[in-house]
Amino acid sequence: MNEAVRKAVQEQIQAEFESAYLYLAMALTCRDRGLPGTAHWLTVQYHEELGHAMKFIEHAHARAVSVEFGDIHIKRVEWNTIGELFRHVLQHEQYITSRIHTLFQLAQQHNDYAIMPLLQWFIEEQVEEEESVRTILDQIAMVGESGPSLYLLDRQLGSRDEKD
Ligand code: MG
Repeated sequence: MNEAVRKAVQEQIQAEFESAYLYLAMALTCRDRGLPGTAHWLTVQYHEELGHAMKFIEHAHARAVSVEFGDIHIKRVEWNTIGELFRHVLQHEQYITSRIHTLFQLAQQHNDYAIMPLLQWFIEEQVEEEESVRTILDQIAMVGESGPSLYLLDRQLGSRDEKD
């Protein structure tokens, strides 16, 4: 594997772990604020991000490429409403999408054909990630986020499957 690609993979593993930390931190705040369903949704997301990091780790391992872990930078997010929270999630996912696209371009530049299927998977995954968050934001915009609406939204988010 080309050194620039290896380094970018390593940084992406870090970014996936940082995403996991971000969602876990958000989940804990939701619990504190009496939103157990939203906390559940974010905890599922946390597990998913760990899975993303593992996909890159396994790929590197399969190609006998060693990766080192750098420091995890924890992004702190302030939010007052559930709408604000999910706008942060969408922004973060858009940032991850742009990282994946840059990684794909880099792999193309260096003719790294072996990583293409994995990156293609991530490109599709990011489309799904952004779509699911946008759907939640649409629902929030539709029903509002106070009183009964917030209760119902939180219940619905609580029904997210582990594999969603
Ligand atoms: Mg991810």
